Amino acid sequence: MINSTTYDVAVIGAGSAGLQAAQTLGRMHQSTIVISNDRYRNDPTGHMHNFLGHDGAAPAELRLAARKDAEAYADVRFLDVVGAGVTRISGELGAFVLEVDGEPDVQARRVLVAAGVRDTLPDVPGIAENFGDLVAHCPFCHGHEYAGTRVGILGAAPHVAAMASMLLPVAVERVVLTHGATLDEATAAGLARTGASVVTTPVADVRKAGDGLIVTLTDGEEVALGGLFVKTAWQPSSPFAEQLGLATSEVGAIRIDALGRTSVPGVYAAGDLAQGPELPMPMASVLVAAAMGQVAASACVQDAALARIA
Ligand SMILES: Cc1cc2nc3c(=O)[nH]c(=O)nc-3n(C[C@H](O)[C@H](O)[C@H](O)COP(=O)(O)OP(=O)(O)OC[C@H]3O[C@@H](n4cnc5c(N)ncnc54)[C@H](O)[C@@H]3O)c2cc1C
Repeated sequence: MINSTTYDVAVIGAGSAGLQAAQTLGRMHQSTIVISNDRYRNDPTGHMHNFLGHDGAAPAELRLAARKDAEAYADVRFLDVVGAGVTRISGELGAFVLEVDGEPDVQARRVLVAAGVRDTLPDVPGIAENFGDLVAHCPFCHGHEYAGTRVGILGAAPHVAAMASMLLPVAVERVVLTHGATLDEATAAGLARTGASVVTTPVADVRKAGDGLIVTLTDGEEVALGGLFVKTAWQPSSPFAEQLGLATSEVGAIRIDALGRTSVPGVYAAGDLAQGPELPMPMASVLVAAAMGQVAASACVQDAALARIA
């Protein structure tokens, strides 16, 4: 079944990227539908940091306030869906069709993909339970909360040396837990230079103890930490890049230009799943995602306006 309305823009996602895009589009009287299945990357955490005016706020509070802002504009409609949400996007500039789980298809002239990414955590017992609190992946989001403690870094890839160096001013002591893997020479030398210690025995499990964590190694030894950094493997939440034939980056993000346009006319992207020019990876934060949403929405408006006078 197809809904007879054709929206100017369909925004997929109501995280910070999608919500800011909705506000920008609403202010410019673009008929907009925002479709979300209510799953957010920062669901595991109760506190959000490094965001002006909202440092330490609950992510859900910010989203609620942002949604109220967007809903105040008559041209913005939210479609809250359960299950898989948007399952397929097809079509072309001026005539996109979005198939939505359990709902009639949605038609839109342009599509703004703000559907975020999903993290896969290292397969170590206790990591998932503590992720977003005593286990984190981003020192800008959580590093300060571990200040003055011994901080662990799980992994053996080259990033661990940079992470240990970054945490030098924050942590009292830094321990790299290679989980049985061997460090390459350059990484080992970098860690030695920054004064981090290295434990190579595999990790058996991680558990919360008081305000911190206890990491138990497979030989029974225990390492007490104030916090632990892990690297997550992430992937886009939904396969829209493949469905639409969007160009992607080496790390699997949707390639966008400086204005949030993808390689396919009429398709824009914003937030954690999108990577701008010159960047080595998506700059994943709530504030950056919101800014990207605003830029991509502005580009939608401008492109539509220019098309009308061409
Ligand atoms: C544990 C953790 C803690 C973090 N802490 C911080 C922090 O303190 N500060 C900070 O700045 N950043 C933090 N981040 C990063 C931050 O969460 C992201 O940068 C930000 O949420 C990205 O916003 P987004 O709008 O791109 O995606 P999201 O917020 O993940 O939103 C994605 C949206 O797309 C929707 N969606 C996805 N697929 C579909 C579909 N098929 N159909 C319909 N809807 C769909 C979802 O329902 C959701 O509405 C943290 C991340 C993690 C994992």
